[in-house]
Amino acid sequence: MMNLLLYNFFPDRLNLYGDRGNVIAFQKRCEWRGIQLEVVNIKSTNSINLSQVDLLFIGGGSDREQGLVTHELLKIKKEFKSCIEDGVGCLAICGGYQLLGNYYVTSEGNKYMGLDICDFYSVGQKNRMVGNIAIESKDFGNILGFENHSGRTYHPYESLGKVIKGFGNNGNDGTEGLYYKNVIGTYLHGPLLPKNPALADQIISSAIERKYGRKEMIQLDDTLENETKHILEKICLKH
Ligand code: GLN
Repeated sequence: MMNLLLYNFFPDRLNLYGDRGNVIAFQKRCEWRGIQLEVVNIKSTNSINLSQVDLLFIGGGSDREQGLVTHELLKIKKEFKSCIEDGVGCLAICGGYQLLGNYYVTSEGNKYMGLDICDFYSVGQKNRMVGNIAIESKDFGNILGFENHSGRTYHPYESLGKVIKGFGNNGNDGTEGLYYKNVIGTYLHGPLLPKNPALADQIISSAIERKYGRKEMIQLDDTLENETKHILEKICLKH
């Protein structure tokens, strides 16, 4: 039996607008294929061992919660970066996404240093970017979600997609998210994965390929997921 290990960072603090559902989606999509996914909830980075991990998940959080976990994450900055460079899969949502960069300055002017996975920064403003969002991604088709962030992110890397409706990275340049190696950073909550199963499968299959050398996975029947997505898409694009 194939097995994968996922570290879910600070689920008590970083879990907004259903982010936890992403971990459940990973679990179910693995289970339906006979892949065993062990989920470890990380509450402290003291004595954490990243050498066997296959997937990393960081959810979103308020500025306050982000501030509380930043110093914990910075303790494993080097190891985290090595994992990413080695191709470990990572999904980081909103506040978690901001933490992948060099720094995030809140709208109050507090600066939180990031993990330096990629060279970018995020800056908060008083007016938040809130609402349903639809993006177009060349690899995964249209992706739907919900965003609520004050931070604006600017980066020169490949984005996850182009904004069709909503704000995305900064409400300015039409980009949303980040796609770097096997890392996906995005502002989309919702949760993201149950209604965008192709994205979940990309992350799982890249982890399987890295560990077992093969990418093919059993196809699942996503009729229900896709129908849900189309209904949500209509609602999102109408308003
Ligand atoms: N605190 C960050 C911001 O407001 C992230 C918010 C979130 O994770 N939804 O930009």
